[in-house]
Amino acid sequence: MQSSKLTQNLSFGLDIHTGSGDDLQTGCLEARRIRNETNRLDRQGWDWDDIKSTVVDNADHVNNTTQLIVDKALGELETYHDNKDDGWRRPYPYIDESYPMVMNHGEGYRLFLEDDGTVRFRITATRGTHVKGDLRGSPDHFDRLQTAFNDNEWRVGTAEVVHKHNEWRLHVTVTHETHHVASKHDADTIVGIDVNEDCIALAAMSQGGSVEDSAVFEYPSVKEHRHEFFTKRKRMQKAEQTAFETVVQTEERDYVHDCLHKVSRKVVEWVSQFSAPVIVFEDLKDMRESIDYGTRMNRRLHSLPFAALQEMVSYKAAWEGIPSDDVNPEYTSQRCPRTECQHTARGNRHKKRFKCQQCEFQDHADRKAAVCVVQEWFDDQYGNVPSLDRLPGRVRVMRRAASGAGGGPDSHGAVFASGVTSAGEARASGQAREKLKTVASAVQD
Ligand SMILES: [Zn+2]
Repeated sequence: MQSSKLTQNLSFGLDIHTGSGDDLQTGCLEARRIRNETNRLDRQGWDWDDIKSTVVDNADHVNNTTQLIVDKALGELETYHDNKDDGWRRPYPYIDESYPMVMNHGEGYRLFLEDDGTVRFRITATRGTHVKGDLRGSPDHFDRLQTAFNDNEWRVGTAEVVHKHNEWRLHVTVTHETHHVASKHDADTIVGIDVNEDCIALAAMSQGGSVEDSAVFEYPSVKEHRHEFFTKRKRMQKAEQTAFETVVQTEERDYVHDCLHKVSRKVVEWVSQFSAPVIVFEDLKDMRESIDYGTRMNRRLHSLPFAALQEMVSYKAAWEGIPSDDVNPEYTSQRCPRTECQHTARGNRHKKRFKCQQCEFQDHADRKAAVCVVQEWFDDQYGNVPSLDRLPGRVRVMRRAASGAGGGPDSHGAVFASGVTSAGEARASGQAREKLKTVASAVQD
């Protein structure tokens, strides 16, 4: 994790429409209590990590907000320790003025940029209490906020609610090349990702163990196009046209980069819908060993998108404050996800179909693998996997034309597949023959 190098502080007034200034006052008083408690425990000689976890457990703010408030209080103590030889005084152990609430965007507060340029806010004043309204401020600060929303190099960071000059204000930080990533230990939703050469499958499970949703994003043309570039380059090498070869390489790199960029953006968008998600990948070092590479060509087609896609997804997720983690991928593709069964055999999987040879559980193989990635994570974290008997009946398969300008599903719209047999889908969906072909190839290729 990098520390903040380029941070701008933007200041806005709050026009409150829902909730009240009293709610914010309650939040700031709780922030003061957290700050004072942190100082009290520090005086008693507590370890700072213990202070944090204890205070977070007992606070009336959402965990993330409490952590940021404790960090702020500990930061003040740290500054004192660094400077006490120069005569700095220890912070007062007890303050009686209010203390700012510190919040992460997307967690303790959220801003919504409207088409007409107004910015709505939602602040979680205390657990379950939301204060909403519009921001008020200078055009310059609105411009910078807009940039933070629209430019990939910038992001909207932490904000503080303060009472100043007789009004409630929000101080928003926008940061460049830095990110505050939530701790994976605070995750409410665990999203397992199974990356394949032609698709990326996702499954989201709550801490309670219920599968919230799943999706499969396909990118068939990435592979096709890369094959095309490879062939083109080979031809040029034979003809010794090295200058052109470089051009093709650049073209190919840009093309692949563009595809991965679009797919990873879709993935992060999908993940962002869940409460406090953590993204879990299969560890690539282990994965490389488990993949059956055929030829040198296969190696080229496989290795780059795997690594690059995971990196891009986790980078984009980090900008959104979403942490990533990885697990050992051993047997995630072969193991039955039913906790009662867990039968593991190579024969359980046939291309895109998974059918447990023991209990006959069936599913889309990649979606099921994503579920197993989540189970692996639970096992790593808690040594325990929530009980699972069945998965939601439908797998959402989203196909996109990678060369197209848009980032949405293809001309068929989102293709829904049941994850069972293509014939079954044919009857179930009652769609035209052409579309069935798409579904069939989506599931079985
Ligand atoms: Zn089974």
